[in-house]
Amino acid sequence: MKYSILILALIFSINVSAQNINRNQLLQDVEILSSDVYEGRKTGTVENQMAAKYIIERFKNIGLTFYQDSFKHPFVFKNKAGASVNGTNLMGYIKGRNKDVIVITAHYDHIGITNSLINNGADDNASGVAGLLAIAEYYKKHKPKNTLLFIAFDAEETGLNGSYAFMKNTVLEESRIKMNVNMDMISHNDKGELFAAGAFKNPMLKTIIAGADKDTGIKILFGHDEPKLGKDDWTMQSDQAAFAQKNIPFIYFGVEDHKDYHKPTDEFKNINKDFFYGAANAILNSVIRIDRRLKSVKTK
Ligand SMILES: [Zn+2]
Repeated sequence: MKYSILILALIFSINVSAQNINRNQLLQDVEILSSDVYEGRKTGTVENQMAAKYIIERFKNIGLTFYQDSFKHPFVFKNKAGASVNGTNLMGYIKGRNKDVIVITAHYDHIGITNSLINNGADDNASGVAGLLAIAEYYKKHKPKNTLLFIAFDAEETGLNGSYAFMKNTVLEESRIKMNVNMDMISHNDKGELFAAGAFKNPMLKTIIAGADKDTGIKILFGHDEPKLGKDDWTMQSDQAAFAQKNIPFIYFGVEDHKDYHKPTDEFKNINKDFFYGAANAILNSVIRIDRRLKSVKTK
């Protein structure tokens, strides 16, 4: 009897150690960022900057370091109508043992209000920001090999303006950026499937990431990264595009479009909580593997 309890305790502790993310905090971050007070986090609005403030508070609590004078990095861009809009990227880092940098990204803006209804953007992309914060939290306790730069991008929905602004005027030498891991929509899939796009250009990433989904309850699928796929090639469809364009290796984690995509129903109550928790763990496991084997990652 005692022996079986010991075995059970052992199995339980192994399971727990395979899950490195604080589930309550992860869900709380999504719930808060997708709440009505932020009115859909549209770039250029007061509510978008209120969401930015929440993320900066989380950066501070986690203990990230900032570049230059602030976590905030403002930029100006022209929107599709030709008007100037102010955006603000949010950046903090954790120093590694060497100079190489992995940039971990997720956009925090969304599309705001349409037809008097708030598009809360729980999956798109409060989920990615919560995932980013969870990874930062893990690495505050486990020193990375490479420096990890965390960026919550603004103005993704307007045409990837935040990520292009960052690459145009990086806070560090561009040659130090060896890899981008981008998260955009990681919490909503009924089949338990999360895509990892980017290994087509860099097959080594497939080898490195394989198995990162073990014991997470979700499945990582590779794909959506070949030019011949046309619009189903996701390479240029989220912030990883700014890195891909400079031939920097990337992995983009995201789900297939779903019924609530860019709709007011993309709300906290409609994300798959268990899937999301599994996806965040699988992404963290992937980042741990990439950090260990970064030197073998090269774009062809
Ligand atoms: Zn998005």
